[in-house]
Amino acid sequence: MLRFLNVCLLLVITHSALSAQNNLYLHRNIKNAYDKGTRSTDGRPGANYWQNRAEYTMSVNLEPKKRLLSGQSTITYFNNSPDTLKTIRLKLAHDLYRKNGQRAYDLSEKDIDEGVMIKSLSVGGKAIAADKQRRGNTFLDVPLEGMPLLPKSSAQIQVSWSYVLPADEGAPREYATADGSVFFVPYWYPQVAVYDDLQGWASAPYNGLQEFYNDFSDYDVTITLPKGYMAWATGELQNPGDVLAPAVLDKWNKAHSATEVVSIFTEEDLKKGGVFNKLKQHQFRFKASSVPDFAFAASNRYNWDATSVVVDDKTGRRAFVSAVYDTKSKDYYKVCRIGADAIRLMSTWLPGYPYPYPSMTVFNGNDGMEYPMMCNDASTGDRDPTGLTAHEISHTYFPFMMGINEQNYAWMDEGWASFFDLNLTDSLSGARGNSRGYGFFAGTESDVPPMVQSRFLSSPAYRGASYSRPQAAYLGLLDLLGYETFHGCMVEYMDRWKGKHPMPYDFFNTWNQASGQNLDWYWKPWFFEWGYPDLGIQGVVTDESAGRQYVHVERVGTQPVPVHLEVEYTDGSKEAFHQKSDVWRDGKSSMRVYCAVGKTVKSVTLGGRLIPDADRKNNNWKL
Ligand SMILES: [Zn+2]
Repeated sequence: MLRFLNVCLLLVITHSALSAQNNLYLHRNIKNAYDKGTRSTDGRPGANYWQNRAEYTMSVNLEPKKRLLSGQSTITYFNNSPDTLKTIRLKLAHDLYRKNGQRAYDLSEKDIDEGVMIKSLSVGGKAIAADKQRRGNTFLDVPLEGMPLLPKSSAQIQVSWSYVLPADEGAPREYATADGSVFFVPYWYPQVAVYDDLQGWASAPYNGLQEFYNDFSDYDVTITLPKGYMAWATGELQNPGDVLAPAVLDKWNKAHSATEVVSIFTEEDLKKGGVFNKLKQHQFRFKASSVPDFAFAASNRYNWDATSVVVDDKTGRRAFVSAVYDTKSKDYYKVCRIGADAIRLMSTWLPGYPYPYPSMTVFNGNDGMEYPMMCNDASTGDRDPTGLTAHEISHTYFPFMMGINEQNYAWMDEGWASFFDLNLTDSLSGARGNSRGYGFFAGTESDVPPMVQSRFLSSPAYRGASYSRPQAAYLGLLDLLGYETFHGCMVEYMDRWKGKHPMPYDFFNTWNQASGQNLDWYWKPWFFEWGYPDLGIQGVVTDESAGRQYVHVERVGTQPVPVHLEVEYTDGSKEAFHQKSDVWRDGKSSMRVYCAVGKTVKSVTLGGRLIPDADRKNNNWKL
């Protein structure tokens, strides 16, 4: 009997494990990864998981008047894959500006150029002639003729390059003011593309729309600027005393443990002089380890506020938070405080994981765009800057700490950033966070299942699949699981994949396991299928046998959402009812919500601000 029971149990377990796998469509290349053991069906990195990395030692010189950027890089690239590489693929993002380049946006004609000028390129000390360098889209494929890169070995690439930053102050990423006083410089250096276990060399060109997919690397970067300029960058400044005058250095040091915002210097201070040591030029050395990218900014007139915040209560570790901005900005004087408070909440609440970096600089540029430890955020003018600041900083977790392939699955980071900024804004500013209004867009032809790779999408499908639909799905997930389980899943996901490259199935399967429930019924309609959320009130029915009324709620759409009802009775009293989206788990098309005994329903409102609904016309009922 016992034996029989065990066999039965085994059958049940095997069956549910199989159906769990079979529930979501599995792409063949993902199945290959399971077969090779690089990934695991339970959502963990596999026993044979690998990823490549690089060490970048770079020096870069910026000539503000000419907007000329020139640099030398030494890149040591480590091949941890089991494959022998015959090519190393470099990304040259500035080739977006190259004549005949593929672009998601029109660029100012005056900025179209020859792309990145490669002055010299060598691998292992051997020069690679220009005619051997295969240039296409925004890639430069470096052939390793006669010297392939074997598994578990490294190659040293040396490259010397230059290009002119775009003059258009509204360029999609870079920012260079016409007067040469302010620069934000992202996507700027020859960077090794990702070679991974699913697709080999990443092949999505940079067209200005899809953003990050980078390996985790170490950076040691020296930035040379004319005198009078300060630099801010990814990582930690190694030599502040070389450039900053002692009194300013003192403020910089104090700000690293301050809880209040400290003004390191203002535009006024810069005009008066005495901020910098007397030098012919300024050299700033920054180091960052295990980060997926490096960006920097420079100015000779911006204000610099800084403070610090405890990001890990167990160790007392602090992060150094800066806001660097134009005197004319109406909102930026608030940004340092908002940034520090947001980082504290991110570390302790949502996602509830210690901020992983030593610093964050929010720089007043022309965009709303994240980089590791840097944001390029335009002024929000009369609007409150909390949402934008929180959104861009929260990208620290996705796609940076978790090395998301945003070219394929932007919802794995933009959806989260949209989810975080909404919750953080609600909490920090008292203002309502930005719910992206998925319901209005849902079910239209442009509402593409997020599992369609982002590289194939343009707006509005890209925005819908990356921001509004996943934001709604994650909000529903928080409602469904409750904070404690939700947070437990988030921590498990982050612990497993921090510093690695999780793919969608790694996310789904980790959350299934960590929540202790198979959520495939939720993932499928939200991420894999065409559909839309729409609940409606069919009517209010009197159940004579129960002696009470119930609201008959119909599931018109396919995506599962919570049922939230506000009921008013004829005696003037009110009652709210909330059912999590798992009421729809088994596929039923309607449900009853029973109201108070002995009362008569006067009116019902169905739905809520955070519950998307494609058709709200069927959301109200009146006696
Ligand atoms: Zn974003």
